[in-house]
Amino acid sequence: MSVANQKGGVGKTTTTVNIAASLAMHGQRVLVVDLDPQGNASTALGMERGSDTQSIYHCLVEDQSVAEVTRPVEGIPGLSCVPATIDLAGAEIELVSLVAREARLKRALSAYDTSEVDYILIDCPPSLGLLTVNAMVACDEVLIPIQCEYYALEGLGQLLRNVDLVKSHLNPTLAISTIVLTMYDARTRLASQVADEVRSHFGGLVLDSVVPRSVRVSEAPSYGQSVMTYDPSSTGAVAYMEASREIAYRADTGQ
Ligand code: ADP
Ligand code: MG
Repeated sequence: MSVANQKGGVGKTTTTVNIAASLAMHGQRVLVVDLDPQGNASTALGMERGSDTQSIYHCLVEDQSVAEVTRPVEGIPGLSCVPATIDLAGAEIELVSLVAREARLKRALSAYDTSEVDYILIDCPPSLGLLTVNAMVACDEVLIPIQCEYYALEGLGQLLRNVDLVKSHLNPTLAISTIVLTMYDARTRLASQVADEVRSHFGGLVLDSVVPRSVRVSEAPSYGQSVMTYDPSSTGAVAYMEASREIAYRADTGQ
């Protein structure tokens, strides 16, 4: 599942990390692939990184195996992560000259023993460039986080068109499977208006659980943790737990 939205700061990384943690806490085996040069998902999952860190960059550009760069996440059995480092910023350009440049991640993951995991979540960068295209070619489903703010829907049309393009040219089975409303502020009318608009547009794709704006959610990464372990009873953690339950239920029932 690719977690994508070319807007920055809409909750892609937060959603990736917390859904992944919560699926793992329910006994699923989950791999997070950090595909953003910023490496925020890696930070949030406590991945120590240095200049010699082997990362997703090496899988994409140097044919390193995914298994070799995968690392367990401390404190959450069943959860592992392929970290990203700033090297990845150059990959967008380096990939251009490589053969099958849109399918590098797909290739890397197809050599990975996927019987080892139940879910792979790919945290995309805030752009529709080659890295995001690689994610969409490698995955079956796209999860789009939408921030309940003004402008939230702007740019969404472009994202949907890109998914369609990848679907028609590169990955015929690709589908947008899930939309998660994030940073919902129940005190504002705007948030509920945005939520209503998204639901009327996307119907059943939108998860029932809505992630509230919560300080605990934003604090967790600075402790190298998901909010699921940092403060499991907080409103944000409970919402992500519910969201992951819906995702697991859909996967089991094929809905
Ligand atoms: P993206 O990956 O789309 O750029 P992030 O997940 O990094 O977005 O979120 C952007 C910022 O908003 C981060 O500082 C994050 O901690 C904060 N944030 C995300 N979700 C919430 C939430 N539910 N409540 C409060 N802050 C949040
Ligand atoms: Mg991010």
